Amino acid sequence: MHRIAVLAGDGIGPEVMTESLRVLDAVEAKFDFTTERTEALVGGAALDATDNETPLPKATIQACEASDGILFGSVGGPKWENLPPDIQPERGALLPLRKHFGLFANLRPGVCLPSLTHASPIKNELVPDGFDVLCVRELTGGVYFGTPKGREERDGEPVAFDTMVYKKSEIERILHVAFTAAMQRDKRVTSVDKANVLATSVLWRETAIEVAGHYPDVTLDHLYVDNAAMQLCRRPGSFDVLVTENLFGDILSDEMAMISGSLGMLPSASLGSKKEGTDLYFGMYEPSGGSAPDIAGQGIANPIAQILSASMLLRYSLGEGEAADALDAAVARTIDDGLRTGDIATGAEGETRVGTREMADAVIERL
Ligand code: NAD
Repeated sequence: MHRIAVLAGDGIGPEVMTESLRVLDAVEAKFDFTTERTEALVGGAALDATDNETPLPKATIQACEASDGILFGSVGGPKWENLPPDIQPERGALLPLRKHFGLFANLRPGVCLPSLTHASPIKNELVPDGFDVLCVRELTGGVYFGTPKGREERDGEPVAFDTMVYKKSEIERILHVAFTAAMQRDKRVTSVDKANVLATSVLWRETAIEVAGHYPDVTLDHLYVDNAAMQLCRRPGSFDVLVTENLFGDILSDEMAMISGSLGMLPSASLGSKKEGTDLYFGMYEPSGGSAPDIAGQGIANPIAQILSASMLLRYSLGEGEAADALDAAVARTIDDGLRTGDIATGAEGETRVGTREMADAVIERL
């Protein structure tokens, strides 16, 4: 029995979460395991229930602590935008959750299925078969958190400074996440750095080479970040796993989401500590997009990002890799068969326009 905390949140969150849980029911029946689910309030929904006291109630944190992983929807919306910044849904719920659980690794798959290449801004002849890249970004170190940082007067003018700093142990643990993920994929890791200029990158590269020694089946290569940004646009199909530090990963993972074509298709995972004696991590799994208030409540949101988030939860926190493979394959078949929510529809022949529920039904049918 696995335990999961279910935090649906706001906007389209509850709609797509309902569908992903129905899909999970079907996966469990097929692969003969069960999950015990605890639903808890987060974001605007929690603010509404607590008279604007907090977007992250204690009971929610406790439900997460008692779980093997968190399935998260999305938070935020116009209703809560004018509250004090530290209790706004994203800042007051997402960031504290990441901090509380020490979620140091952000995994963002950039997948463009062969039948959705038209949605990618990359010239279709460059990606005839689509692509499937996993971007692994270090999330708690580097220049965003390094000290000293600040602003002062020097020689009569304002000067601002940040510090990019990495401990070897921080680099090692994110590289282990990348190599472990590669073992379940095509067994290729590309480490992205700026070792021709930055001291942190020199340590990063040395460490990558050392960690690679533990994974003889995985090949490692290196790219400077500027070149990586270009190669992602030119040959996304040639990458398997990209691993990089916080700032570079922030930029590259968004570039990757953009070239993939549709936000409604992309899940993400943020991983924390490893469960002892296993290759499994405690993690939080959520769509790459937000709460999409413009389409909330209409039953038209694409549930696939949420469904694939559940698949990542199965793979990285619950050890149900076979079930995750089957679910990913069912999603790919659903798209190949032409089912389309509004965000990925083109009106081309062979497409069937569906809503949130029908899309989930189609995935369940193909499992
Ligand atoms: P958004 O990702 O919510 O929406 C951007 C566009 O993508 C919209 O047109 C939306 O309709 C579309 N879209 C997103 N997901 C979709 C799906 N599953 N199916 C179909 N279309 C989809 O970004 P935004 O508009 O910048 O933000 C809206 C709210 O979400 C804001 O309050 C923001 O703070 C919040 N937000 C939350 C998270 C999170 O919870 N992790 C992340 C980003 C934004």
